[in-house]
Amino acid sequence: MPFTTCLALSFLCLLGPALTLGEECEKRDDDTLAMIQRHKDHSARDIGRLKSCPCSGGPCFDSAPWHQLPGVRSMNQVQDHRLRSPAAQHDPLWISDQPDLGFHGGMMGSAKVPGWTALNSTPHMYMELHEGDNWQIAQAMNFATQHNLKLLIKNTGHDWFGRSMSRGFMLWTHNIQGSQWHDAFRPANCGHSEPAVSFAAGVQFWQVFQEMKEHKRLVVTGTCATVGHVGFTLGGGYGDYSHFYGSGASNLLEAEVILPSGQQVTASECNEYSDLFKALRGGGPGFGLVTKFTYRTYPEPAVSGMIMGTVSGDMVHNLAEFFAWYKALNEQKKVKHIGGILQLQPGHVIFVNLRFVNLPAEDCQALLQQSSFFNGLTCQQAAVFNDFSDYKSSENGSKGLQPDWLKSMASSHVGSHVMRLQQ
Ligand SMILES: Cc1cc2nc3c(=O)[nH]c(=O)nc-3n(C[C@H](O)[C@H](O)[C@H](O)COP(=O)(O)OP(=O)(O)OC[C@H]3O[C@@H](n4cnc5c(N)ncnc54)[C@H](O)[C@@H]3O)c2cc1C
Repeated sequence: MPFTTCLALSFLCLLGPALTLGEECEKRDDDTLAMIQRHKDHSARDIGRLKSCPCSGGPCFDSAPWHQLPGVRSMNQVQDHRLRSPAAQHDPLWISDQPDLGFHGGMMGSAKVPGWTALNSTPHMYMELHEGDNWQIAQAMNFATQHNLKLLIKNTGHDWFGRSMSRGFMLWTHNIQGSQWHDAFRPANCGHSEPAVSFAAGVQFWQVFQEMKEHKRLVVTGTCATVGHVGFTLGGGYGDYSHFYGSGASNLLEAEVILPSGQQVTASECNEYSDLFKALRGGGPGFGLVTKFTYRTYPEPAVSGMIMGTVSGDMVHNLAEFFAWYKALNEQKKVKHIGGILQLQPGHVIFVNLRFVNLPAEDCQALLQQSSFFNGLTCQQAAVFNDFSDYKSSENGSKGLQPDWLKSMASSHVGSHVMRLQQ
């Protein structure tokens, strides 16, 4: 599929007649267009199309014949007081379960906003989708194309840039559910088959964690239980095991997608949609609505564990030590066994959150001893598949499980940073 047939679905807003919009929106839209121009191989025609698209909430948007679209609903707004309540503050599962809420997580790791913030996303119109609703999705996308409307696709609202959450016509994929595990999956038109799992668009990582444990197979995921697999993979997707097993995108085997034209396609690296498939593997959102992704799975790793703790002192010196050690690890061809996150915190503190995999704990410890950076830190063996002992269910009746640390990260910041987009 040529890129010119692709529509930048998640972030169409405009610069032209949208003068009724506030400065905040215009700025977002300027940023979005600049971002598209920087990162996407769209032709000038596509960019021109974005500029002429009527913004949501304006006369063109409001006068669209919405009555012709069954199942469409108008904005369902969570009130500020509810957003500020413990329901929102302590329950990321509940937040990701609302069509009009999302997370502002762009400043994770910052001293000011180390967690995330609940965001009222206030779509003007939205459609709640379920598995098997492909015809409705095609119809909705046709409608948006025909009336030149800003279209958003949202699952959980974890998008760092709020691309699933601004005003417009939202297709809410959160309730498109289902999974299927395959002993031998053959991607469309490919000659080979391998163990795999298919997840429908609305599946979140807490569901994947549970299924991995049940099936004793590893799928490359992110860390946070409430993130959705599609957005993760569209952005590349880096998780605890990526240093050994690759990114979310590199493990994608096949995609089912509904294009802006309404056409439903199955894309793999072996069929006529291989360019679309390539774009979906980390090319960002905007190429169509994904209804299902199928991923490679792996046997349970032989051994795995954590290296966790803090390193204090001169941060520049300590980082230089770490990088010298990591370079040496690479030269010893061991680098794929250890990876993860170093979080730089105020007061020259480095929070070490690394994971080792397929390496005995004593061999891991011997590697740590090659650098003074790790003084006092140990390789601690841990179960690969979560036992969920520190997981809690939603206090507000949303489905799922979330770890305590996830809840506290949210709770320390939600409320003081509640934002509402302008009407
Ligand atoms: C708390 C937190 C923790 C995170 N942890 C990690 C991590 O460990 N590793 C990592 O790599 N990333 C991580 N991320 C980043 C995360 O992977 C991205 O923000 C991702 O885009 C979220 O996807 P989502 O579907 O949950 O969110 P959404 O906001 O619902 O969607 C994200 C983007 O994908 C598009 N999209 C979603 N579903 C579809 C679909 N079915 N078809 C087409 N487009 C779709 C949306 O339009 C939007 O642009 C984290 C983010 C947060 C906020």
